[in-house]
Amino acid sequence: MHLDDAIDQTLARIDRAGLRRTLLSLDSPPGPRVVVDGRELVNLCGNDYLGLAGDAGIIQAGIEAAQKFGAGSGASRLVTGSPSCHGELEDALARFFGTEAALLCGSGYHANTGLIPALAGKNDVVFSDELNHASIIDGCRLSKAERHTYRHADITHLEQLLTEHRDGKDLAFVVTESVFSMDGDTPDLAAIADLCERHDAALIVDEAHAVGVLGAGRGAMAALGLTGRAAAVVGTFGKAFGSFGAFVATSAKIRELLINRSRSVIFSTALPPFAVGAAHEALRRIEAQGAAFETRLHEVAHELAQAAREAGLSVLEPAAAVVPAIVGGEAEALAVAEKLLDAGILARAIRPPTVPPGSCRLRLTACVTHSPEDLARVHEAFGAIGRGSGAEPPD
Ligand SMILES: *Cc1c(COP(=O)(O)O)cnc(C)c1O
Repeated sequence: MHLDDAIDQTLARIDRAGLRRTLLSLDSPPGPRVVVDGRELVNLCGNDYLGLAGDAGIIQAGIEAAQKFGAGSGASRLVTGSPSCHGELEDALARFFGTEAALLCGSGYHANTGLIPALAGKNDVVFSDELNHASIIDGCRLSKAERHTYRHADITHLEQLLTEHRDGKDLAFVVTESVFSMDGDTPDLAAIADLCERHDAALIVDEAHAVGVLGAGRGAMAALGLTGRAAAVVGTFGKAFGSFGAFVATSAKIRELLINRSRSVIFSTALPPFAVGAAHEALRRIEAQGAAFETRLHEVAHELAQAAREAGLSVLEPAAAVVPAIVGGEAEALAVAEKLLDAGILARAIRPPTVPPGSCRLRLTACVTHSPEDLARVHEAFGAIGRGSGAEPPD
């Protein structure tokens, strides 16, 4: 078979399943409102939770870093050396997150695929939540450790797997997100930390959707008084920080190990100065805001949940900025997204393999700078769906 024919067959299969994905071209920053094809839409599907990606001060800080250190970093930090802005941001992150050290990574994807194989080897075992992000799954696959997946946020199942599979291994690791990207929920992190201690396992927490949001910006672990209970916390700059890149907040020893063993750190070019300068300014902004960002995000997220219920969709009360509104099938989810688009609301349908079959959803996201007018438009659009066209009205 020719490659072209094989690709045609694969794409046709994706089409038949209603799973074809397309890219949307934006003519604006990814904030609370976006411009698509000349139309301004209320954006309910970004991760720029604090509206910092389009913020003039954040952009200016990025520009100044680029002017001082260059458009790119030139090489891996182990080769050319690291621009001093990298080390300064790492020190500030360690202080803010209450860890000995922090290490910048190319992205959240790089962080997880570098961290997990650097820590977990052949005689080790990793326990991973079934809904963990693809970068965690890939990090586990790249490690040579034995792997076990526990049911989502199911502490009893995790305990059972630890009891059955921990013994006889050198090291054990439990990996979880703190706010799940597609479900928006938080697992019982205190119980997970306790289990880790009881079974001599190290905890790795991916706080991609919690840093800048929960715990006055310090994440879910800090919000729950669990700072220091994880061996490593992963955070990203691509979401609430409005920039790009990621970090691991951890011990000085693990940082040293990562510099020597993490393949995504060693074999990939360091973050560009623009991203580092912008992320550092975002950190200052988050620190200065205290709990104000978090309070506003909860208000907006609550409004979005309310609006989705007006359309007859089932929604759980959101733990942070992510509000999953479950629709069901692929076609229905696409139809609801289409109706919202007609009403000036951007909310894209999330379908398998990102979420399990039958649980297609609109993953609505709150932004602190969503205005009362934006939210009124959202209520109006969801309300119209609830009143008429297709979806069942609420009870
Ligand atoms: C987005 C995300 C990542 C990947 O981060 P990038 O910086 O976009 O590569 C990793 N983990 C989780 C939980 C995420 O949501």
